[in-house]
Amino acid sequence: MKSIAVIGAGITGLTTSFLLKDKNLPVELYEASGRPGGVIQSKRQDGYLAEFGPNTLLNTNKKLEYLFKISGLKEHVKFAEHKGDKRFLVRNGKVIAMPSKAFSFFLSSLFSWKAKYNLMMEPFRPRWKNAYEESVAQFVRRRFGDEFLTYAIDALVAGIFAGNPERLSVIHGFPKLYKAEQEYGSMIRAQFLGAKARKKRGETSKQEARILSFDEGLQVMTDTLAQKLGDDFHPNCPVTAITQIPDGWRVTYRQGNDLKQKDHSALLLATSAYAAAQIDLQSTSSFNLNSFSNISYAPVSSVMLGYKREDVGHPLDGFGMLLPGIEKFNILGTLFSSTLFPNRAPQGYVALSSYVGGMRQPELAGLPQDKLFKMVHDDLVKLLKIRGEPVCCISNYYPRAIPQYNVGYGHFKDIVYQLQKDCPGFYIGGNYTRGPALSDNILSGFDFADNIEDYIKTVAPFEV
Ligand SMILES: Cc1cc2nc3c(=O)[nH]c(=O)nc-3n(C[C@H](O)[C@H](O)[C@H](O)COP(=O)(O)OP(=O)(O)OC[C@H]3O[C@@H](n4cnc5c(N)ncnc54)[C@H](O)[C@@H]3O)c2cc1C
Repeated sequence: MKSIAVIGAGITGLTTSFLLKDKNLPVELYEASGRPGGVIQSKRQDGYLAEFGPNTLLNTNKKLEYLFKISGLKEHVKFAEHKGDKRFLVRNGKVIAMPSKAFSFFLSSLFSWKAKYNLMMEPFRPRWKNAYEESVAQFVRRRFGDEFLTYAIDALVAGIFAGNPERLSVIHGFPKLYKAEQEYGSMIRAQFLGAKARKKRGETSKQEARILSFDEGLQVMTDTLAQKLGDDFHPNCPVTAITQIPDGWRVTYRQGNDLKQKDHSALLLATSAYAAAQIDLQSTSSFNLNSFSNISYAPVSSVMLGYKREDVGHPLDGFGMLLPGIEKFNILGTLFSSTLFPNRAPQGYVALSSYVGGMRQPELAGLPQDKLFKMVHDDLVKLLKIRGEPVCCISNYYPRAIPQYNVGYGHFKDIVYQLQKDCPGFYIGGNYTRGPALSDNILSGFDFADNIEDYIKTVAPFEV
């Protein structure tokens, strides 16, 4: 047996490679850039800790804890402070706490009585039986009404996908919501009745799952996994071609000025969709990777501003705030990072991490840094009663941050499915295949490692 190739050292590729190695299977991880982690990058500056990409990870499944245990990450895990459980939404320019219990929902000033009535009626609305694919907006309007879409879901979708609910597909972008309606006939009913099934699967609902990171940010996780791979991690080795050979897969990659090749028994392609589309795939399948270039991505800038605590009028007693598009601010949302993790700012200071751009205002994400800092600061002044100037500013721009699972996304999923079906030992992963959340990608790593192990054992058994 030859080794297994994993292409792309984002969280999917790293998790899969680490788990394969843990199963005593030989693995080689090829990475185009000089560092592991993909979009995960943490930066310490002037006593602040900023995240360029994701800020938090939701502990939705026991497998995550298992990974942390066997990789030695457990001692670095930092669970968010409990006061971070509270979340805020902006309505009429005011930062209002989102109701967390049914009782507080009815007392909240966030929604009108009409919206509250609409929510109460949700369990009595018929389930979707039409053949055409609904957008998130259509789904929410039908089940909860317009106001819930405009004020809650629009902001939530911006927070997860930096996306547009009118374009995102409910079945592909939020498959659990779609399934909840199909299985239980109602989201509210599913919330109660689905709890038992979740427990059986070792899952925790997103509402109950604890938020976590690591002592020096999420990059600790990807650096640690890469370190455990030792010499099997190959940075600065962009893969240019993948060729099916009689007993596996040939990888062509660049190393310095050289073009090299290596043969493998199985292969996981775990890059972004647009990077996969650049790779020349030669296989017996009639499908190739080129059409993944048509998957649209939302551009996002992450902006961390640090302030003196005394200069911020808002108590920052929660996770952060989300902003619906109708409110006409420039930021999509802001995390109260130093409330969640006190070590993100020096004593007596606070760190606020905002995201800008997305499908809502894509043109803002690529603004020059000074303009971006001023724009975010101006919004925060209005919303969080800030009196002074920021003392620390850090930002990062991702022109293609998050893939958009828009209506019609099934076309791309079909290609992923067909390629894997046509090409034994060839697997495709990454956040355009199994969902954008870190937890989705880590869990996919477990699936890939198990599937590849099964494949190797049955089709290409060890030759010793
Ligand atoms: C700004 C931002 C904020 C986010 N916030 C959150 C959050 O708070 N919580 C959350 O759960 N999720 C969040 N996400 C989503 C989550 O971070 C990503 O979905 C996830 O990290 C993507 O991991 P991945 O394995 O798909 O690959 P990526 O991180 O995209 O990595 C792919 C890797 O492949 C490499 N590569 C590309 N081409 C080649 C090639 N030819 N050869 C070899 N290597 C190649 C790249 O260099 C890269 O390292 C956020 C994402 C962004 C961008």
